[in-house]
Amino acid sequence: PTPTDYIRRHIRTVPDWPSPGVQFRDITPLLSNPRVFRVLIDQFVHRYFDAHPTAIAGLDARGFIIGSVLAYELGVGFIPIRKKGKLPFTTVEESYELEYGSATVEMHTDAVKPGDRVVLIDDLIATGGTLMAGAKLLERLGAEVIEGAVIVDLPELGGSAKVRASGLPLFTLVEFD
Ligand code: 5GP
Repeated sequence: PTPTDYIRRHIRTVPDWPSPGVQFRDITPLLSNPRVFRVLIDQFVHRYFDAHPTAIAGLDARGFIIGSVLAYELGVGFIPIRKKGKLPFTTVEESYELEYGSATVEMHTDAVKPGDRVVLIDDLIATGGTLMAGAKLLERLGAEVIEGAVIVDLPELGGSAKVRASGLPLFTLVEFD
């Protein structure tokens, strides 16, 4: 199979989680199988090796897992963008709307500086709110976001189209309806 078929086959769909009607795309089988995990990380390594990013930023919490391994492989630092209330030092924060209510993400004020070129990683894009908020934090501190990157796109939810329309390049490996 192609690498993306191989990756796609190791994503588990859990019906009605965390609420009725939701089909949760579970990436833990990608992480527990060492061969698939390597193929997965290599997709991102090959895509960003020549781009020479100065750092990888990952979104809480599954973006930390793939983002930190990618950063290690590329020989650059890793920046966590966390849900509000978790980071100890001074932070910048960005809020975005959810279907019910809102969410806030935070990043340390010294995580990036003008001139930095960052790849922003998460496991999945649905409405795009999380990824856009993370990109705004990086840009507010003067960094350039080279590209957003996720394993899974749910194109029917419109998030990937919204991100690209905003001018932020986006790389996605597999799609699910
Ligand atoms: P968005 O902000 O694009 O609506 O939602 C994306 C965020 O929610 C990501 O951080 C992602 O981890 C999480 N998420 C939402 N739905 C799913 C899902 O079906 N599977 C996984 N693995 N994560 C999800």
